[in-house]
Amino acid sequence: MVYGKEHKAVLQAIIHEGALPADNGKDVIIRLFDHDNTAKVLSEINAQLRPLYMTVKCTTCEVTGQLYWVFASTVLDKSASFHPEFSQAELALLRSVYSEIVTSSNGYVSSTFCLNLCSSLNLRLSKADADEFLREMVARKWLYSKDGKYYMGVRSIAELLQYFKDTYENNLQICTLCKQELFYSEKCSACDAATHVYCLENYARTHGGPAGCPTCRHPVPGTSSGTDAKDVDGAPQVETDIEMTQSSHAKRSKRRHKN
Ligand SMILES: [Zn+2]
Ligand SMILES: [Zn+2]
Repeated sequence: MVYGKEHKAVLQAIIHEGALPADNGKDVIIRLFDHDNTAKVLSEINAQLRPLYMTVKCTTCEVTGQLYWVFASTVLDKSASFHPEFSQAELALLRSVYSEIVTSSNGYVSSTFCLNLCSSLNLRLSKADADEFLREMVARKWLYSKDGKYYMGVRSIAELLQYFKDTYENNLQICTLCKQELFYSEKCSACDAATHVYCLENYARTHGGPAGCPTCRHPVPGTSSGTDAKDVDGAPQVETDIEMTQSSHAKRSKRRHKN
């Protein structure tokens, strides 16, 4: 089938959501195409997007294991194409939240800590505004939020992985099973191997039950939820240089972290 208005409608649904749950996407495709061959439709859409250096990526949420279709750039991976309505202070906050998540040992940061960043980084942002901004980032799936903690959102993983790789080279961990970079994982207490929770679940399923750590076979507890959120003091300072611009020439001097 040639690229037509049905494909456009699917793409519009993805763009509208930023990250569309794959189940919802499948429903849209069934409704428009009278079949459920999502891989075929997505590859037809991606063929159309290729000359524009855009693509639809299938990315799994590290926390929920839910699969999303994310509209992402294929070349501007190092920058984030956020909307221009965000202020420098909001973007500085977001970069710091990313930094805290990546450099944390457990892949999340407490919301209280994030709000305190406003004063510790001297951001011109009230806690109330920061809270609202971070909630919006969750709604747009740049972040994921659960139990007062922020995790890396599925869109950030789909769109900003290259930026994270470039910036946090030595801090990124690799999943023992799928070999992709990960931020939130199940860690083996014996050998310290990190594995996506959903990869571990797939692994257990194919082994007909809990199979233990993929590396050392040490028993791995079920989906754990640690409580040791990062404390306010002792936060590592990582130089961030993400280009999330309002105008194309953001003021670099403003985004230096205080040390
Ligand atoms: Zn994995
Ligand atoms: Zn292990």
